[in-house]
Amino acid sequence: MAALDPIAALSALYQGVLKKGEPMAGHTTFRTGGPCDLYLEPESLDDLRIAVAFLTQQGMPLTVVGGGSNLLVRDKGIEGAVISLAGLDTQVTETREGESTILTVPAGAKTQHLCRYAAMNGLEGLTFATGIPGTVGGALAMNASTDPKGFGAIVDALTVVDISGKIRTVPRSALEIGYRHLAIDGKTRHDDGFPIIVEVKLRLTSGDSDALVAQREALLTRRKASQPVGQASAGCFFKNPEGGPSAGKLIDDLGLKGEAVGGAKVSELHANYLVNAGGATTADILALAARIKEKVQQAHGITLEEEVTLVGRET
Ligand SMILES: Cc1cc2nc3c(=O)[nH]c(=O)nc-3n(C[C@H](O)[C@H](O)[C@H](O)COP(=O)(O)OP(=O)(O)OC[C@H]3O[C@@H](n4cnc5c(N)ncnc54)[C@H](O)[C@@H]3O)c2cc1C
Repeated sequence: MAALDPIAALSALYQGVLKKGEPMAGHTTFRTGGPCDLYLEPESLDDLRIAVAFLTQQGMPLTVVGGGSNLLVRDKGIEGAVISLAGLDTQVTETREGESTILTVPAGAKTQHLCRYAAMNGLEGLTFATGIPGTVGGALAMNASTDPKGFGAIVDALTVVDISGKIRTVPRSALEIGYRHLAIDGKTRHDDGFPIIVEVKLRLTSGDSDALVAQREALLTRRKASQPVGQASAGCFFKNPEGGPSAGKLIDDLGLKGEAVGGAKVSELHANYLVNAGGATTADILALAARIKEKVQQAHGITLEEEVTLVGRET
């Protein structure tokens, strides 16, 4: 008897979107990246758990994609399954706990919807996330921020689905959180077996909604003036070296604004933004990044470290 096709077997168990060979360029803000073997958008939490348990049993590597705004996918695509939470509920709920308001936020919710919701409802604590694209799950996975603490200051707990499909709560005390860093049970987003964040609990305080909305608008205006927000990129490409000048300043001081490889270019507005100026491949972006790293290393003896998350087949 012929062996059962794993995709057919999964289709029988699972309700959500299931595609083969989905191009990742459509799921990343860099607009580059080859196809993944399988692409899934589960339509419920149960659906997600069933799919994750099945794929793990089949030995298939799993990659989670949120808004794809920190992801650089290699041109040869991604081996295994890519899971998006775009099909899940995104409703935010509020509960009071003494002086605090606890927001329970599904991980697929957009970070900017959350920030707008908080400002308009007079909830303080999320100003650091103003203007950061992508989803709340992605923001937590890398502790996205504009200040040193980021979500470390407000996260109360996470709900995660392990690669076995089991759901559990991870309290704040079990999280290791730092600069562009979150570890759960010692694993970060770069490690196989990093769980899928499905819900986030944030502890906020009361503030004045008019002041919070005005502050938000001022920050968004400042961001638009200083960053190429309309161009395809993944935000700042390199982390800021500890204690030193920012990565943007190091690159700018070397006169590298406008430097290009193929369709990849160093933004004229902000030197730590590499942009897809049109038709770039991930290979172009990586070659440009390697050139920048070499020049910064030669000039300053500093090794720049990528802030973007690089995934996909190398060969
Ligand atoms: C114009 C622009 C401006 C930006 N400004 C900032 C900024 O000011 N500060 C900043 O820190 N970043 C910034 N970024 C980078 C990016 O927007 C943030 O890192 C964002 O929070 C990533 O979220 P995402 O949903 O897009 O994650 P993705 O890019 O989809 O994923 C990022 C990583 O998180 C993992 N991941 C995603 N969702 C989950 C989940 N639910 N569970 C487990 N793992 C998950 C992915 O597997 C991947 O490893 C900017 C990007 C752009 C394009």
